[in-house]
Amino acid sequence: MPTTPTTYADLIADVRKSIATVSLEEIKRRLEAKVPMVLVDVREKDETRAGIIPGALSVPRGFLEMQIEQKVTDKSAPVVLYCAGGTRSALAARTLMDLGYTHVESANPGFVRWKDLGFPMEMPPNLTDAQRDRYSRHILLPEVGEAGQSKLLAAKVLLLGAGGLGSPAALYLAAAGVGTLGLVDADVVDASNLQRQILHATSRVGTPKVDSAEIAIRDLNPDVKVVKFQERLMSDNVERIFKGFDVVVDGCDNFPTRYLVNDASVFLNKPVVHGSIFRFEGQVTTFVPGSGGPCYRCLYPEPPPPHLAPSCQEAGVLGILPGIIGVIQATEAIKLVLGKGTSLSGRLLTYDSLRMKFGELKLRRDKRCPVCGDSPTIKEYIDYEGFCNLG
Ligand SMILES: [Zn+2]
Repeated sequence: MPTTPTTYADLIADVRKSIATVSLEEIKRRLEAKVPMVLVDVREKDETRAGIIPGALSVPRGFLEMQIEQKVTDKSAPVVLYCAGGTRSALAARTLMDLGYTHVESANPGFVRWKDLGFPMEMPPNLTDAQRDRYSRHILLPEVGEAGQSKLLAAKVLLLGAGGLGSPAALYLAAAGVGTLGLVDADVVDASNLQRQILHATSRVGTPKVDSAEIAIRDLNPDVKVVKFQERLMSDNVERIFKGFDVVVDGCDNFPTRYLVNDASVFLNKPVVHGSIFRFEGQVTTFVPGSGGPCYRCLYPEPPPPHLAPSCQEAGVLGILPGIIGVIQATEAIKLVLGKGTSLSGRLLTYDSLRMKFGELKLRRDKRCPVCGDSPTIKEYIDYEGFCNLG
């Protein structure tokens, strides 16, 4: 029979006997090897301000029982707790075991030593009270949380086109708190745009689309910085515009730009969420260079002849359709920023609004692709207008 602890020293000795510990070197090794584990920092908030172990969740010891089941929902997940020196985390480990967590370890010693050893650290999420309130429904999701919301606020997403697809994508990305939104569009708002381009308004007909979009985005969420490019994307400006953005959301409506965007994405190693719409149908996929998935040229080595590729202006489009497709594109962009879920890389999602059906096609990288293949032949920008008007 274990004796009931009567002093602090007895209590700690008893706890230490009943829990598993892990060295700081082993935690560092697991981080580098990307071994799945949930790191939980049980220090007080003011102690974490100077840094945390990368990726750690902050659950102060005083809130542990109340918050842990919400923040770590899988009780069989490998959990590693740490504090400053190893005592509070040992007590926390015992608490988690009592709550039914089956794979719990306590770091020994703790963060003070981790810092002395010069092991990697990161700054903890630092949201304002207003941001905690605005994004509270995100923060409740364990897959997002304060750390994910901080990633969104630090993210830079570039939208090609502030039109049909760009409108819903920009509004939802802005609402979600993506901190920097780049907008590339040379056009002005036309009354015939308003049937689907919900970023704009009747009062702003005749205004450049990037300015009109900025007004809508600012009003929705002042956290978002809008970077405007009132120009057409071309070979000689694509690198300047793409530079500094993490993800590209492609809502352009013409083939020369699509091929240009693809080549730049491969050359600059930027993921592109591609969407397109035609009358009642749309499709979405995500191109992630270097992921083993295809690029746009793997799927379409050659553009269709111009007479087989009518634009919305010529063929018409159901106004709601870009809403569906653009919102799927925004969802993909958010997942890429958060590093969560499974992207549409290697899959083409198709949508038929008249039949109300979604479909999915498997896409494969073409080893002979002239841009992303094993022996690429296209290594710099080409004449895209000429390439697309050969038909
Ligand atoms: Zn390719």
